[in-house]
Amino acid sequence: MPLYLPHFNLQNYNTLASPVCADFFVSVKDEEELQAAIKFAKEKNFPLLVLGGGSNIVLHENFPGLAIHVQLLGKELVREDDEFYYVKAAAGENWSDFVDYCLDEGFFGLENLSLIPGNVGAAPIQNIGAYGVELKDVFSELSAVDVKSGLSITFTPESCQFGYRDSVFKNALLDQFIITSVTFKLGKKPNLNIQYPALQAALVGYSPQEITPELVSQVVCDIRRSKLPDPKQIPNVGSFFKNPIITPSKLVELQQTYPDIVSYPVDETRVKLAAGWLIDRAGWKGRELEATVHAEQALVLTNPKRLKGTAVLALASAIKEAILLKFGVELEQEPRNYP
Ligand code: FAD
Ligand code: NAP
Repeated sequence: MPLYLPHFNLQNYNTLASPVCADFFVSVKDEEELQAAIKFAKEKNFPLLVLGGGSNIVLHENFPGLAIHVQLLGKELVREDDEFYYVKAAAGENWSDFVDYCLDEGFFGLENLSLIPGNVGAAPIQNIGAYGVELKDVFSELSAVDVKSGLSITFTPESCQFGYRDSVFKNALLDQFIITSVTFKLGKKPNLNIQYPALQAALVGYSPQEITPELVSQVVCDIRRSKLPDPKQIPNVGSFFKNPIITPSKLVELQQTYPDIVSYPVDETRVKLAAGWLIDRAGWKGRELEATVHAEQALVLTNPKRLKGTAVLALASAIKEAILLKFGVELEQEPRNYP
């Protein structure tokens, strides 16, 4: 039987180190314990807070319900064909350790996603992405428990409806499923994606033979360590805002005033702006209220005083207002607020 701990401080379970409490907390290690926890919450009419590594959530007040820490562990090669290995990992596996394991085993495709904090189970929620690769590029299927019926359901790539830092689990199926495992389709041979500018720059000087998946992973880790604060030292949740998507005509309008504005074409009707550039240009990089805009990367808001999430939300709100006023562009928050 899992243990239900009352009035539980979640400070060590979220990378913003927000010191808020859940009415109850439980850690589940297998599907049976997960089912029991869901039943416990239903009987008491408690809302659920599903916790992985807590690296993409903002806990701003006490959570009036049950926090379930998903700790299901295990990984296995489930099948293979001529080109691919299909590798299944339980939701509670640490993402970064799983990437390292795959590299060691010669399962290729995850190298650009090295060192992203959090657990496997949360990775499909926002279709994690970095350095030109997204989870959807290596995704085969996932299993999830339907909170209402208790049934385990398999989701294909199509049914996950992956988008840019987005999936069906953030939209139509919000809070309806708890992911228990994810299966990845990983190459038997390396198929490197090194087009991303920061990667290309870091790989200058290496011969094509020297550029292996291990090297790409190492370079990604080096770049990340140089720019991003380690949440253990300086609490943060990575990028606080998504990069805004605008129309090409809005870009032309902005370029009249800001010819150096950073943008990337998405398709014929959409352009992506670098939110970090907008925040920097509006003078917010390095600024401190109760929370702080990281000096190396303006897209990252930090909580060095380990205050409640409200401190970071106040800073985020001031930034959003400033960006709207200066550029006429609306920033959308990436991490989810609780409660
Ligand atoms: P949590 O924060 O615990 O949960 C996030 C959401 O998923 C919550 O709504 C939660 O309820 C839900 N959830 C968690 N587990 C499950 C489950 N098993 N079933 C159903 N729902 C679940 N993200 C990127 O995309 N790319 C990056 O490069 C990147 N870099 C980062 C760098 C830093 C320094 C930090 C702090 C964060 C970064 N992130 C990045 C954001 C974050 O790491 C990812 O979103 C990650 O997938 C979150 O995993 P987690 O286990 O911590 O999720
Ligand atoms: P960066 O290299 O300084 O680039 C700034 C932004 O420009 C990025 O957000 C990236 O968008 C975009 N970009 C750069 N080159 C691009 C290209 N050729 N095509 C399309 N878009 C391009 O970014 P960074 O902050 O150091 O982050 C590096 C990578 O890690 C990015 O992919 C970023 O998303 C990821 N990351 C994510 C988080 C998070 O919490 N979500 C935190 C840290 C890093 P994209 O974001 O769309 O890639």
